[in-house]
Amino acid sequence: MEGSQRQKSITRSARSAAGGLACLQRSHLEGVVARKPRRLRQRGGNRRNLRCAACGHLITDESERIAMSGAHLHRCTNPAGYTYDIGCYRAAPGCGSAGEATGADTWFAGYRWQIAVCGSCGAHLGWRYASAGCEAFYGLITAQLVPEQ
Ligand SMILES: [Zn+2]
Repeated sequence: MEGSQRQKSITRSARSAAGGLACLQRSHLEGVVARKPRRLRQRGGNRRNLRCAACGHLITDESERIAMSGAHLHRCTNPAGYTYDIGCYRAAPGCGSAGEATGADTWFAGYRWQIAVCGSCGAHLGWRYASAGCEAFYGLITAQLVPEQ
């Protein structure tokens, strides 16, 4: 009986550890189904604009932040071994897209991705994710966006 309780607590800590893994691994291991986007509550009416780090073009603002698969921020590694810290946004009107949409190696199960670039200077800012049944969203590289002062 003591043994089974111990087993339960190990399972629980393993689950919470899995929550911190890269979403690529999570979706492969558990087949995580992307949950409906949840708009994050505003902290003190914070709606700062977020601009392209390279050229200052207005990309989106902090009120567009959403949580996908339970979190706004995700650390994701692509098959080439590059790791990105990305934040999820409902909309990013300052982004353009590049290339064809594909579902290959997606970080969000059920979503196809397309490269998102700055609409002004063309810098790679992240990815646009689209799914047949859900609203599209953007996963933007945190280091590529700067909040307006
Ligand atoms: Zn730019």
